Amino acid sequence: MRVTVVGAGIMGLCTAHALAKAGHRVTVLDQAAFLPNPAGSSVDRHRLIRYAYGGKIGYAAMVADAYAAWDRLWADLGERHAVETGTLALGRGVEPWITDSARDLDAVGVPYRWIEPKDIPARFPPLTGRGIGRAFHTATGGALLADRIVAALVRRLPALGAAVRYDARVAGCAPATATVTMAGGETVAADRLVIAAGPWVPALLPDLAARVTPSRQAVVYLSAPAAMTDRWAGMPMVLDIDRSAGFYAVPPLAGQGLKIGDHRFSLTGDPEGDRSVAQAALDAIVAEAAEQLADVDRYRVGHAKACFYAVAPDERFIVEPVADRTWVMTGFSGHGFKFGAVMGERMADTLLGRNDPAAMTAWAAGLGSADGSGSTSAA
Ligand SMILES: Cc1cc2nc3c(=O)[nH]c(=O)nc-3n(C[C@H](O)[C@H](O)[C@H](O)COP(=O)(O)OP(=O)(O)OC[C@H]3O[C@@H](n4cnc5c(N)ncnc54)[C@H](O)[C@@H]3O)c2cc1C
Repeated sequence: MRVTVVGAGIMGLCTAHALAKAGHRVTVLDQAAFLPNPAGSSVDRHRLIRYAYGGKIGYAAMVADAYAAWDRLWADLGERHAVETGTLALGRGVEPWITDSARDLDAVGVPYRWIEPKDIPARFPPLTGRGIGRAFHTATGGALLADRIVAALVRRLPALGAAVRYDARVAGCAPATATVTMAGGETVAADRLVIAAGPWVPALLPDLAARVTPSRQAVVYLSAPAAMTDRWAGMPMVLDIDRSAGFYAVPPLAGQGLKIGDHRFSLTGDPEGDRSVAQAALDAIVAEAAEQLADVDRYRVGHAKACFYAVAPDERFIVEPVADRTWVMTGFSGHGFKFGAVMGERMADTLLGRNDPAAMTAWAAGLGSADGSGSTSAA
């Protein structure tokens, strides 16, 4: 089967990888001048994988499958790009995110321990514990080294017979015939078309503009002074991400600095626009972090990056047929990367007729149950 994939982010690349491994003829098209595309949502130093899902049990139940799919990818790549850190979940906001997340872990059988908020500074020395009502720690969860994964896939695909074209902007598509028209006028026809265009998707499928909102989000890298290095040794990732809070921190790992960010959606911005991070936005993230990071003034503020979420209603992924021969994968709402490998495998299986399309859509929308039932075939 010939398949065209629009978008060389994690979703397009993993789908292309699974199809190419199965012996199909795949062409990946990306508008970026080079790959990995630094403006894509998938390209940053890391993305987190966690079971704590604030009550979205369907997604918590997908995480074990996500880990298994990453393991299959590492085996194929001959490289592993992930670091397990464990997860410290903090409850500071007004929503029951933390108790709902604990219930997710109960439901999927992942062990965790409640932590007394007053014990946080002693047990996790970089943190203040200020304002925390509840907290738990689980040894599960960690960081996927996102830019390395994307780069490894871009290198691997040609060896599997797939074509990966950069500087290849798709100007329009005809879903019924699985055909795209390039910005230069060339047409590319295939048996199946997958549009994995992240926050740019409304330009190709205007009907999705009502459901997918690009959301500019900034992250900031900090350098801890040498005297604080010991404090960070063995630290888990820190999440306080209900919609009224929004702080997360990724400890220094794999030679990368401490990353902090705010998960609350800006729901503004144009992915084609300026990507510089204004001083005020940077200051706001550091100020939010100051509540939780002890001695924040001692850190050096380094690199900042603006990146886009493609936010869908209720943060549920949109993986749907657009016509008989065309699927769209978008709306990953700031939490899709962890599922890239498993999403790609199952998208490929669906295109190949091995999955029920309606079950694929429901599973990707996080509507499966804790035991994984209502899901698609195991990839
Ligand atoms: C700051 C930030 C933090 C995040 N943290 C996490 C996290 O901790 N854990 C997690 O699981 N997820 C996280 N996410 C979300 C995750 O990164 C995304 O869900 C995921 O990367 C989406 O991948 P994608 O392939 O859909 O989109 P993208 O990576 O954006 O790829 C889309 C590609 O399509 C190309 N394209 C678009 N239009 C066209 C066209 N017309 N022609 C040709 N090419 C086109 C683009 O150039 C782009 O390269 C985070 C996202 C951000 C921004």
